[in-house]
Amino acid sequence: MSRLRILLDNGHGKDTPGKCSLRWADGSQLFEYEFNRDIVRRIADKLAAKGITFDIITPELTDIPLHQRANRVNHICNVNGVRNCLLISVHSNASLNHNATGWEVWTTPGKTLSDSYAELFFKRAQAAFPNWKMRSDTTDGDHDKEARFAILRKSLCPAILTENFFMDYEKDCRFIMSEEGRSQIAQMHFEAILDCIDFYEQL
Ligand SMILES: [Zn+2]
Repeated sequence: MSRLRILLDNGHGKDTPGKCSLRWADGSQLFEYEFNRDIVRRIADKLAAKGITFDIITPELTDIPLHQRANRVNHICNVNGVRNCLLISVHSNASLNHNATGWEVWTTPGKTLSDSYAELFFKRAQAAFPNWKMRSDTTDGDHDKEARFAILRKSLCPAILTENFFMDYEKDCRFIMSEEGRSQIAQMHFEAILDCIDFYEQL
């Protein structure tokens, strides 16, 4: 039987304009490319320790164009089978007025396998972050938010995108700059991936 292969995408590069927090009063600042890569690396370490097969789609520090990232994903999908892969793109959020807080997961519009995987992520996040706002859209019967993000739309396999708190809101940003925050976020993703593997094996 095939096993579920986990494709980890860390969005953005060192050179992507605008993908950073404000500079806080103590001079600290978060750069999204660094956060995304650190979380992906932590998840990858946990998967490796469990013997779970994974690929890091964007190991480079620079910004890899979306079509190229999608090509990498789809190459792996074509080799391993579309249904045997799950893409997880890790991000941190920002809002227009720098006043939003919380955690959310995204899929493309419509009901696909991605929604089932996203729901497992949402449940794990809800359990991991009981004191934080869970941002969801339940109008279609599940908790994920839906948009035609390029990496989700262009990927052949089920694909989800996690927005791990708001880097432009100080409370959130302090949390995701902290060791505690990062270790909780990575652990939550790891546990959700184990749930996704269980789910996939029942399909
Ligand atoms: Zn992002």
